[in-house]
Amino acid sequence: MSQVSRRIAIAGAGISGLSTAYYIQRFCMEKGISAEITIFEPNEQLGGKIRTLHRDGCVIEQGPDSFLARKLPMLELARELGLEDELTATNPLAKKTYILHKRKLHSMPEGLMLGIPTQVMPFLRTGLISPLGKARAALDLVLPKRSGKGDEALGVFLSRRLGNEVLEHIAEPLLAGIYAGDTKELSLQSTFPQFQALEQEHRSIILGMIFNKKKLRSLNVKSVPSVTTGPKEQGGQIPLSKLASRSMFLTFKQGLSTLVNSLATKLSEAAIRTGIAVTEVSRNDKGHYNLKLSDGTVEQFDAVVLAVPNYAAVAMLPELAEEHSLVNIPYVSVANVVMAFHKSDLALSKDGSGFLVPRSEDLTITACTWTSVKWLHTAPDDLVLVRCYIGRAGASESVDSSDVQLTNNVRTDLKNTMGIDAEPVFVEVTRWKNSMPQYPVGHLDQLKQFRSKLAEVMPGVYVTGSGYQGVGLPDCIGQAKQCAEQVAIDLMSRR
Ligand SMILES: Cc1cc2nc3c(=O)[nH]c(=O)nc-3n(C[C@H](O)[C@H](O)[C@H](O)COP(=O)(O)OP(=O)(O)OC[C@H]3O[C@@H](n4cnc5c(N)ncnc54)[C@H](O)[C@@H]3O)c2cc1C
Repeated sequence: MSQVSRRIAIAGAGISGLSTAYYIQRFCMEKGISAEITIFEPNEQLGGKIRTLHRDGCVIEQGPDSFLARKLPMLELARELGLEDELTATNPLAKKTYILHKRKLHSMPEGLMLGIPTQVMPFLRTGLISPLGKARAALDLVLPKRSGKGDEALGVFLSRRLGNEVLEHIAEPLLAGIYAGDTKELSLQSTFPQFQALEQEHRSIILGMIFNKKKLRSLNVKSVPSVTTGPKEQGGQIPLSKLASRSMFLTFKQGLSTLVNSLATKLSEAAIRTGIAVTEVSRNDKGHYNLKLSDGTVEQFDAVVLAVPNYAAVAMLPELAEEHSLVNIPYVSVANVVMAFHKSDLALSKDGSGFLVPRSEDLTITACTWTSVKWLHTAPDDLVLVRCYIGRAGASESVDSSDVQLTNNVRTDLKNTMGIDAEPVFVEVTRWKNSMPQYPVGHLDQLKQFRSKLAEVMPGVYVTGSGYQGVGLPDCIGQAKQCAEQVAIDLMSRR
């Protein structure tokens, strides 16, 4: 007997939507479910925030530039797609990261792990923290652990354990930078849950980090200084954990769009409809879902995955307005300015990958990556690439300046911090409005409540993506895989 084909809609063709579609296609095939997948994307280009530009021999990332290798879902997917040989690691010689302090660049003290000092001498020697600040950080060794296990703000946690100076001069630019966030607002459990676990287990987060470092060493998970990921081990594939240990960050030689293009090719069974947004999702009397589309048509589906920013999902589900008050996440706008210089005009430090700018320094830029030093594949021999980041929670108004104004402000900052006076060969300005979700304190509990309401009121509708459980690319892929599995399980149970 022929099986009824299930129609599955996915809103959004960012990495979350594309990888959800890929895994649904795979799981449905494995479980013998006949499925028709349709992806709706308002832009003509696929990939959402992932956007690679090739210009004058440079590989320029306008959105994310790499991924955290130790979070394995990205590597798993790259392997499944046959992209392992396309991976490349950071330049092992550019190990240092600098932080601006009182308009001077200081290298981050050695032994810092996620902003937590784990080596005494380099921390004592750093000019980033005053003697009093260092003494305050040492109090972490003796302070009791917090009794409650609930969520708190990342900044409140770090300042409680290590004091305000470590928070403001090191941890905030390093950790909140990932979210363009404000540590006083971001949820600890949704951003760095490992800190809370360290405190609960070891009381002191410094001692906890040192313990973990030793444990890792004893497991012999050491970094191998290699620029490319190297050949496969004889007789089979390199274990993913070993691949991940080659570099903290990895990317693709031709840019992260490699992954997007490969996913699009592998989605042979799916219809990808660009230039069309989903405007509303509602349940009809047959228990299916009607999708109103921006071209004025309405289509019916059995299951719907919303892989769009949280505010876009809220707008599509007016029936769930009340439940959505549980998960209504603020977003911050950011921009970045990439500049190419003639190598003869600009000598970048060869030992570092760039610098971070704490809020107190009051510059336009929040960070600067020495892209062609950090990633050797990104520029030809005669060019140097520099990428500057703009905008963070509470300070994103400069994102709206004109390209000329933004470029001028960035050049002023580069002159004042690095003495760069040279004329760029070209400049690429990219704005990402409302792009960085800010998980508030209590977010995970509220998300759990929201998901259970969604399952009750609109079974067969799912939300996934950076708006929910992690902004990093591996987090988005991990969530997408979980979501796809749930879709396949639910479709099986409804057969
Ligand atoms: C500048 C920048 C740098 C970053 N750097 C890194 C990094 O180096 N490493 C890292 O791991 N992460 C990084 N991130 C985070 C990471 O890029 C994102 O979290 C991730 O790409 C989000 O993927 P997504 O698919 O969940 O969302 P998105 O990429 O936002 O995709 C959502 C898609 O939904 C579409 N959409 C919106 N409304 C509708 C609608 N009504 N109907 C249908 N579709 C709709 C959008 O057009 C979009 O294509 C960075 C982010 C930014 C902005």
